[in-house]
Amino acid sequence: MSKVLDVNGIKIGGGNFTLIAGPCTVESEEQILTIAQSVRESGASILRGGAFKGRTSPYDFQGMGREGIELLLKTKEATDMPVVTEIVSKEHLPLFDDVDIIQVGARNMQNFELLRALGRTDKVILLKRGMSNTLRELLMSAEYITSEGNDKVILCERGIRTFESYTRFTLDLSSVAALKELTDLPVVVDPSHAAGRASLVEPMALAAAAAGADGIMIEVHNDPKNALCDGAQALTPDQFDEVARKIMKIREAIV
Ligand code: PEP
Ligand code: MN
Repeated sequence: MSKVLDVNGIKIGGGNFTLIAGPCTVESEEQILTIAQSVRESGASILRGGAFKGRTSPYDFQGMGREGIELLLKTKEATDMPVVTEIVSKEHLPLFDDVDIIQVGARNMQNFELLRALGRTDKVILLKRGMSNTLRELLMSAEYITSEGNDKVILCERGIRTFESYTRFTLDLSSVAALKELTDLPVVVDPSHAAGRASLVEPMALAAAAAGADGIMIEVHNDPKNALCDGAQALTPDQFDEVARKIMKIREAIV
């Protein structure tokens, strides 16, 4: 069994199951608040939302930055949900003082200086697997954080690159079971980025729950067609509600 991390009273790992949901990116106060309220009602206990984005193209929307963090924190206060958001540079660390979980994106999994800097904080870190990285490399990246003194690391499987192109990435669910053998860090699965298609998120989320994930992170948007980032993989609040209900049934069946 993995160890338990405490995020503002929400327990992650050690037999607890955590649903994390929210938009790819914070777009406006109304957008993040509307989504937060609906996913909380469906059973999500942690709100996600990008403010600083590590986008593949420099011409794509890069996120709202500092203002995005401020809107997330405002939403946290209004909904009482802890928040997780991505950091792309250690210079931004002071902006993350009130953020509950700091996410390291797949593209920064081997940004060792960033990992070391996060290791010197007392924040919970959600470390995403790089799209071309092995589990051993993921664990070594986690060690860059823990060896500096911060052992509050959550690992996140979010799909790896294979020859398949129908899906955005290939969700490696064997990593969940393998990581359980290799480490006591909690393991969360992100089926949204792996699938890249909203229609595939539910089956992959259910499979992740069945595989024994300690939590699942899903992208939800109130208007996926007009989302500024990752709209094709976003579930609507109603779709998320349905998936959340089914995930809980799988959990009941396996524990
Ligand atoms: C995200 O969580 O929005 C994200 C960019 O994920 P990844 O780093 O896994 O691509
Ligand atoms: Mn995204």
